[in-house]
Amino acid sequence: MSGLADIGLIGLAVMGQNLVLNMNDHGFTVAAYNRTVSRVDDFLANEAKGTKIIGAHSIEDLCSKLKSPRKIVLLVKAGSAVDDFIAQIVPFLSKGDIIIDGGNSHFPDSIRRVKELEAKGFLFVGAGVSGGEEGARYGPSIMPGGSPAAWPFLKPIFQAISAKTTDGEACCDWVGEGGSGHYVKMVHNGIEYGDMQIICEAYQLLKDVVGLTHDEMGEVFEEWNKGELDSFLIEITRDILRFKDTDGSPLVEKIRDTAGQKGTGKWTAISALDLGTPVTLIGEAVFARCLSALKDERVAASKILQGPEGVKFTGDKIAFIEDVRRAVYAAKIISYAQGFMELREAAKEQGWNLNYGGIALMWRGGCIIRSRFLGDITSAFRSNPGLQNLLLDPFFTEAIHRCVPSFRRVVSQSVLLGVPVPAFSTALSFYDGYRSAKVPANLLQAQRDYFGTHTYQLEADGENGPWIHTNWT
Ligand code: NAP
Repeated sequence: MSGLADIGLIGLAVMGQNLVLNMNDHGFTVAAYNRTVSRVDDFLANEAKGTKIIGAHSIEDLCSKLKSPRKIVLLVKAGSAVDDFIAQIVPFLSKGDIIIDGGNSHFPDSIRRVKELEAKGFLFVGAGVSGGEEGARYGPSIMPGGSPAAWPFLKPIFQAISAKTTDGEACCDWVGEGGSGHYVKMVHNGIEYGDMQIICEAYQLLKDVVGLTHDEMGEVFEEWNKGELDSFLIEITRDILRFKDTDGSPLVEKIRDTAGQKGTGKWTAISALDLGTPVTLIGEAVFARCLSALKDERVAASKILQGPEGVKFTGDKIAFIEDVRRAVYAAKIISYAQGFMELREAAKEQGWNLNYGGIALMWRGGCIIRSRFLGDITSAFRSNPGLQNLLLDPFFTEAIHRCVPSFRRVVSQSVLLGVPVPAFSTALSFYDGYRSAKVPANLLQAQRDYFGTHTYQLEADGENGPWIHTNWT
């Protein structure tokens, strides 16, 4: 039928407005609605003036303006607002209609919503959307998962509006069943926490250990962005370091050193703990933000607790800057290896069929962690879809071997100088643990058996050997 919209969208805040304009630019007719209805008219009169965008003034009005099967994207505050809207939309849907939640919902909610809506004959997709306002407007990374039957209807729209890699591939593909779209978005955000913490540690070393000025650090980041660290976060860090306040001094130094967080990094760490997967770098990145928030305590402790006072870096500064660059790269490889370990365990537990190369591809453009490096991860999983760990891919094995000597120098220098490097040090410890055929858990098992009769197995008997208890006293 003519005059009907290709897709509907609810939630005309920053993300929703920009996504609607993006869809309009790509030739799709969008019908838009917002809880505060005056926002619909404001949008049509201002940002959307001169476009084909259709306004709706109630949910019923919105549903009556959509082609079949109806496709309705929610871009509202995650949580109860999503359930409230679903409850309001359902009475106006027909079998096979599709609701898409593009907000930052927690994946267990998406798992539940898929089940509830499929039981009623509707389809539900939880789509992680990354890239903030600019991404939504000009090409986000979109990670859709949920009812597979919905994908053929969404694919032409979502792949048209998503970011593209330099090779022209869409940074959007079907992730998998259930809550996998939001799960992958959550891990993306966790990895983002890790990348940011790694860069912050490098900044502190360049500033406080090497003693570079902000302009010099800007130069270093400019150089780093030309090589294997080429990424959005390195690029914006370069710009931030160069940015001067009105008095000519670097603005970054005036910013209070307490980091905020909205919870997706914490969810990634909690899920890793639930799965029993050692995603240590993201965990440390979350804890580093928690420690930063203890500003008053830190200021008080700084007057009491001593570090290695008077110890100065005496090495070759140019060589150390290159060591820090390699430490950043090595920590990043380890963090992504851990992130993909978490995805694999979650997929196993939930019964999702995840395409790991496709996930890395979706993160290559549009989103905050976009980087050249993700192209190498895509290649690794494409050449071996069953790859157990990124560190075991020949490209990354060579890269980590090349960087680890530098990584060890950076972590040991930091420890000697009393500079906190939680992400660097946990990544290096993970690497050394993962490459160890033998770890000291034999003693741990003996301790557990000593105090709790938890029993242990003998190495010689293997994993199917008998469980033994010893009277240690
Ligand atoms: P937001 O501030 O998270 O949410 C505002 C929108 O939600 C408005 O349309 C608002 O309607 C509606 N809303 C809020 N509470 C509601 C309730 N209780 N019942 C019904 N509607 C309610 O908007 P946003 O920043 O554009 O983000 C939208 C979603 O995308 C969120 O889930 C967010 O986490 C996610 N996201 C945001 C970004 C970003 O960079 N901002 C990036 C990726 C993902 P009213 O106008 O009536 O208040």
